[in-house]
Amino acid sequence: MDKRVQDVAIAEIEALPIDPASPLIISDADEVILQFMAGLEKYLETQGFWIDLSSYAIHGNVKHQADDSHVEDAHVTELIRAFFHAHTDTIEVVPEAPAVLKQLSERAQIVVLSNVPASRRDDRIRCLHSQGVEYPVIANSGPKGPAVAALAERVDAPIFFLDDIPHHITSVAETAPHVRRVHFVADPRLARLIEPAKDCDHRIDDWHELRQVIEHEIDRFFSGGG
Ligand SMILES: [Mg+2]
Repeated sequence: MDKRVQDVAIAEIEALPIDPASPLIISDADEVILQFMAGLEKYLETQGFWIDLSSYAIHGNVKHQADDSHVEDAHVTELIRAFFHAHTDTIEVVPEAPAVLKQLSERAQIVVLSNVPASRRDDRIRCLHSQGVEYPVIANSGPKGPAVAALAERVDAPIFFLDDIPHHITSVAETAPHVRRVHFVADPRLARLIEPAKDCDHRIDDWHELRQVIEHEIDRFFSGGG
């Protein structure tokens, strides 16, 4: 983990206006709010490649269009970096996400916690804001547990964490075990390829179902059901 980046994320979190009495939803961006894989796929196709979605990974699954040969890992890393450079501000939202988040924002505070390169943070904010997702964005690096714990200690109400990557769910389970962890995979092709994360409380891949579950848990908390 890059400690300097982590410290920046923690400083950003400490500067956020947070209401301790209001529920908090901490959401990942890529593959939860944003159609990351669909965007990357489109980009790869313009560059002479395609991604064979036969397992839940990017490295190892990118192939040359010409002969279906595998693209080596270092080159894939470079392609992902180039994609973020060119398209961070234009990745499309998951269609239902902005409206459902808006509904949830009537009951909860919302923060986007995204492992986007620090240099692309402003592009990410522009991308989300232009598509109706207007909440604070924290640019994190490495496991998300420390940033979630820093947010969680400021809130005395239900807290929810949404992410598509199991190791972030595990990281949050370790640092802030009382946070309700939702494993969410927006792209149905990817959702089929991955089992529920071992440390999640819920596996949900649909924004409307997510809203029902979160609202139910908030209702239960405020009616005294814990
Ligand atoms: Mg993600």
